[in-house]
Amino acid sequence: MPARPFSRPVAALGVVSLLALAALAPRPIGAQGQGAGDEFYDAHFHLTNYIQQGISVRQFLQIMGTRVGRSTLFGIPLQQQWSYGNSGEFAPTYYLQSDAPLYYYSFTDAYIASLYNRLPTSDQARFDPMITGFNPADMYGADHIRRVLTSFPGVFTGIGEFSIHKEFVSSKVSGETASLTNPALDRILDFAAEAGLVVILHSDIDMPFAKTDAEPVYLTQMKALLQRHPKAAIIWAHTGLGRVVHPAQVSAAAAERSPTHLDILEAMLADPSLAHVHFDISWDEVAKYAVATPATAARVAAVLNKYPDRFLFGTDTVAPSGPAPYFAVFDLWAPVFRLLTPDASRKVRQGNYQRIFDEGRRRVRAWETRHANQ
Ligand SMILES: [Zn+2]
Repeated sequence: MPARPFSRPVAALGVVSLLALAALAPRPIGAQGQGAGDEFYDAHFHLTNYIQQGISVRQFLQIMGTRVGRSTLFGIPLQQQWSYGNSGEFAPTYYLQSDAPLYYYSFTDAYIASLYNRLPTSDQARFDPMITGFNPADMYGADHIRRVLTSFPGVFTGIGEFSIHKEFVSSKVSGETASLTNPALDRILDFAAEAGLVVILHSDIDMPFAKTDAEPVYLTQMKALLQRHPKAAIIWAHTGLGRVVHPAQVSAAAAERSPTHLDILEAMLADPSLAHVHFDISWDEVAKYAVATPATAARVAAVLNKYPDRFLFGTDTVAPSGPAPYFAVFDLWAPVFRLLTPDASRKVRQGNYQRIFDEGRRRVRAWETRHANQ
């Protein structure tokens, strides 16, 4: 779940120099494919924002054009309350603009389904709608997901992006704070495994502004959660990073014993008990770490080349106003994509999406057939 509605340019990330670098690339990524829509599939896309406003699917299709073949489709499960007592006449559109709480806005699922159901079949085939409007701290959360499937059969491929630990957000949510150890979350992942729903889970690996040389605080709980649900197809959003939840850092003195973020990822990728876990590299806030220097881009590319089946590209844009802010995230990754093998590049941009979400579609449709008229 991105930190902002992507309205300001990404100049803060040194994008000017990155674009200059990109201009030196022998040819654009899309030129490596064979046909329309082959530049990438978007594994992480928000049609609406924190006040449930956004763009229409028709507008999004225009942005996708011939460059993006398929995309996930979801809103945001949380609604920022406009509290008159807090901000008066100022109507907040983002969670950092108000002290008032956020609450779960379950209607988002009916809204997304209604938009999808109005599309012609050829356009529907390009989207994988996701269920998000449930409270992951509620033991009834799984029941909501089941109800959405039986109410809107033929629509959804998965659940998410939903959040457990998220910087600046978790503490603002009304009611009980979500936790990786809450059995309510286990019920949700159990049901996802049963129905074949693809899961996009956002949970920060660490606390904001964590100290150098410290083990990421939520890593152990996250791995335990993932290991409890080996039959669920889980995508860990942003590889656990955030705007200020930065990659684990080590001082020179501690480098031999403390793993960096990429070391942590590599250990997870090599762990057979986590073979069902994938990672999305969405969000410009994540790209900024990957392309910070030529050395970081090379290290990230090496991991993607070594485990090409385990990563998916996504933009994590929120209701983008047009093609420019939408494709800016993809362009940010150019220094990494340029270093990928053709096989890894194709899988990260398209192939893994196709494999995982096609399997999700197939299994969820089968579940719906088995549970029709219930
Ligand atoms: Zn997101």
